[in-house]
Amino acid sequence: MKKIYLLIAALLGSSALFAQVDKPQKAIYYSISFPNAVHHEAEVVITIPNAPSGAIRLRMSRSSAGRYATHEFGKNVYNVKAMEVDGTPLQVKQLEGDLYEVPDHSETFKVSYTLFGNWTDGTYTGIDPSHAHLNMPATFMWVVGENKRALKFEFNDLDKYGWKVATQLKHEGDNIYSAPGMQYMMDSPTELSAYKMASWQVNNNGKNEKINMAIHSDDDQATIDAFAKQVERMVLEEKAVFGELPTYDYGEYTFLDDVYPTNSGDGMEHRNSTCIVHPIAKIGGNELRVLGTYSHEYFHSWNVKRIRPKSLEPFNFEHANMSSELWFAEGFTQYYGELLLERAGFRTLDDYTHTLAGLANQILNTPGAAKYPATQMSRYSVFADAGVSIDPNNQANMFTSYYTYGGAIALALDLRLRSEFNLTLDDFMRTVWLDRGKVMKPYVIADLQADLAKVTNNPKFAADFFNKYIYGIEKNNYEELLSKAGLLLRKAQPGKAWAGPLAYGGNRGRSGQARANGEEGLAVQVSIIGTPIYKAGLDVGDIILKTDGKDVKDAQSFTDIVAAKNIGDKIVVNYRNRTGDHETTVVLEENPAFEVVPFEKAGKELTKERSEFRNKWLSTKVKQ
Ligand SMILES: [Zn+2]
Repeated sequence: MKKIYLLIAALLGSSALFAQVDKPQKAIYYSISFPNAVHHEAEVVITIPNAPSGAIRLRMSRSSAGRYATHEFGKNVYNVKAMEVDGTPLQVKQLEGDLYEVPDHSETFKVSYTLFGNWTDGTYTGIDPSHAHLNMPATFMWVVGENKRALKFEFNDLDKYGWKVATQLKHEGDNIYSAPGMQYMMDSPTELSAYKMASWQVNNNGKNEKINMAIHSDDDQATIDAFAKQVERMVLEEKAVFGELPTYDYGEYTFLDDVYPTNSGDGMEHRNSTCIVHPIAKIGGNELRVLGTYSHEYFHSWNVKRIRPKSLEPFNFEHANMSSELWFAEGFTQYYGELLLERAGFRTLDDYTHTLAGLANQILNTPGAAKYPATQMSRYSVFADAGVSIDPNNQANMFTSYYTYGGAIALALDLRLRSEFNLTLDDFMRTVWLDRGKVMKPYVIADLQADLAKVTNNPKFAADFFNKYIYGIEKNNYEELLSKAGLLLRKAQPGKAWAGPLAYGGNRGRSGQARANGEEGLAVQVSIIGTPIYKAGLDVGDIILKTDGKDVKDAQSFTDIVAAKNIGDKIVVNYRNRTGDHETTVVLEENPAFEVVPFEKAGKELTKERSEFRNKWLSTKVKQ
């Protein structure tokens, strides 16, 4: 509409009309206060000036920038009211769980609500007297149809709680911050707390970019300052990949880190900041561990926040944002997040071989990667990325994470560029940065293929790589590729009998059917296609009572029985489920899991050529 008016104004040469049309709209104004922080509540008042006449709708988001599954943020909003500026109440209709309508109002009016938030991570909002950890989609309603309007934010009660403001929002003075529009606001997590701060400048093409680190933790300032030196080193290693930092809006990039044992571990990238959350007591003593999140999220300030897939641009806050490109956006970022810590000297070669083995096992030994391409696994992110559900899913048999799947593809491409073209994945990333990211031209997968063809000057190689390994499910030869760097990919437990895992590692076992190990038997928590227990018909929820004639009380007793057997041996398993008591025979196999071992530790000769190849790959690229 505005465009058409401007065109007419230009045709008529009428400055009066032009002035009338260009009348600047006042910013939509958000005020947030915390009178009941002890019970995790905030009060939000939105003042909407220059409101279009007719019904106005406001909604809470259902998704969050960088998080691909839906989240019902509307559930934590209540006490929704609308009023004229003088306080006269207005009617509010709730049209959907998260959608409200004010049918009638003056040109300026207000909407207020109470917000509950008690979950500190990269997506939700956590409020208590120690902080207000605000992820914007979980915090603020937005005015439907007014996405382009400037927004202002007033953060109140700072003195009351001793808080300061850390955010990528533009500081307008005092406790007022601003965003040029709704998309930027949603991308700007804000931490109100007594955080500790470290800042430094990075020379970038002759200009300075300021990097800030705001950490809300129980660490002392000296610990934060020492950690900042490590982050500074990591930032330079990342810069060396692309040759430059992005030009950050307002000249600053901010790491927001919240550290507390009851937090949910998370990292969420944003355009000029990242929201990192650690479920630990302190940074001190955990520096090398937490650096992994820092390096991954910081790499995103190029790859995904600026090198942007078309599928995520603009981000839709009402739906899940499905993307076929996350094997690149997340997977290649995953690869670099670890590689750059190795290059910067924060990881030993042994640490890194564990990372490499993890990537190889994910791409070579999981049913998801065996059956489905990385593009399809990327699209499953709308369920997998912290998607909340109460019923079990079958991810163990049909999903391989686009992080590790994509990371393994990045590894293969890096090693192939190095060995076949005397190029590196850094060369490819730099080309994608210059062609797509720096100029902010969102890409589709064909663009990445075109960039690979350009870098290698070999369209056939690029087409072959994408057809086989991105659109297809063929796998690169990891054993051969890793050997070029003097790294041996081999079976981790050769000759040892194996039945397959019965439980997830870590705390992934969220199946409603599995029960805790009780007095009676061992509950199967996972049954993966291709494993001996799957072939024998054992499934999630089955209770194993006896194996090989012996009582099974816990996972260890089952493992001990299997460990005493040989590959090819048959063991009888007695188990119980809803259909009664059963007996089955499990035929033991060799564990297919791989490990990666440096040649020199495996009794193989590390030739000069392999040693140089490894060195070029893993050594620092920062010019001292
Ligand atoms: Zn990521």
